[in-house]
Amino acid sequence: PFEKSKGQHILKNPALVDSIIAKAGLKPTDTVLEIGPGTGNLTKRLLEAGVKAVVAVELDPRMVLELSRRFQGHPLSSRLKVIQGDVLKCDLPYFDICVANIPYQISSPLTFKLLSHRPIFRCAVIMFQREFAMRLVAQPGDTLYCRLSVNVQLLSRVSHLLKVGRNNFRPPPKVDSSVVRIEPRKPLPPVSFKEWDGLVRVCFNRKNKTLGAIFKQKRVLELLEKNYKTMQSLQLAQDSEMGEEKMSPGDVAVLANMVEDLSMETCDEKEDDEMEMDDADMVGDDRASFKEKIMGILQQGDFAEKRSSKLSQVDFLYLLSLFNKAGVHFS
Ligand code: SAM
Repeated sequence: PFEKSKGQHILKNPALVDSIIAKAGLKPTDTVLEIGPGTGNLTKRLLEAGVKAVVAVELDPRMVLELSRRFQGHPLSSRLKVIQGDVLKCDLPYFDICVANIPYQISSPLTFKLLSHRPIFRCAVIMFQREFAMRLVAQPGDTLYCRLSVNVQLLSRVSHLLKVGRNNFRPPPKVDSSVVRIEPRKPLPPVSFKEWDGLVRVCFNRKNKTLGAIFKQKRVLELLEKNYKTMQSLQLAQDSEMGEEKMSPGDVAVLANMVEDLSMETCDEKEDDEMEMDDADMVGDDRASFKEKIMGILQQGDFAEKRSSKLSQVDFLYLLSLFNKAGVHFS
């Protein structure tokens, strides 16, 4: 019996398993990380493809037992190592490439866990729920373009490889799937990820509003002003280096801790009734001049009338650099 709560949908179409293997571009020197090997259909083909080793992390002890039975005495079994545990909780071993048909409920945290792993891997070929996959690859202007797209694409190149119908699985899941390739960028863009995500989070909270409207919100201005004052008191406000620091592994590791926020729901428009800040709301000139400062920064880059749903990576990087140069920080 397969367990729904563990996302156990076994790949039963051998031709599909073969095309996943073919798309992975495996090398004989590769150590492959497989997540959720289940009964081992993909595992078997990975071993047969002649890689150096397969390390498979599987949560369900029954599946681990089934795997060890299946590969017992198999000529290639010496290249297989099975780790029983939750992939989100265990320390990942070294790997060159990740190939996996994962349980969909861990898509977002797993993606960021992989991207924060060091040394960085060459490539990951992963089966995701179709909608999640489309969010990963979405480009500015696409309906599904969201904070997840922007953050993952900052750290990697993502491409859609295969559409996979639900009937390729036993039992069939309720949704269709897609195989996606994720190739970490090397080197990573020279930006603090905390800053980057702080900006992107603000911008995508209302992705179809203009940035002018978004940055007029009381909540946003208060946050930025607080950061600004903290920075000034630390005498760092004018330090334009801030935005240019290289992303460190520790910095990316922040990702792994904020992944809950990146679930698909948060990509959707939130329609709360928060009031925009108007002049009557302001306490003194201080606040008003800070608001002007922010509006000035947006105008400087011609961003005031633009919407996040249409901004590219380059646009966000430029916007962040303008804010940082003016001493405005997002973390
Ligand atoms: N790879 C197999 C295949 O393609 O036929 C099975 C894929 S099935 C979609 C997902 C597998 O991941 C299941 O075997 C399930 O027990 C396992 N799993 C679920 N949650 C996990 C977790 N947190 N860490 C590791 N494995 C997990």
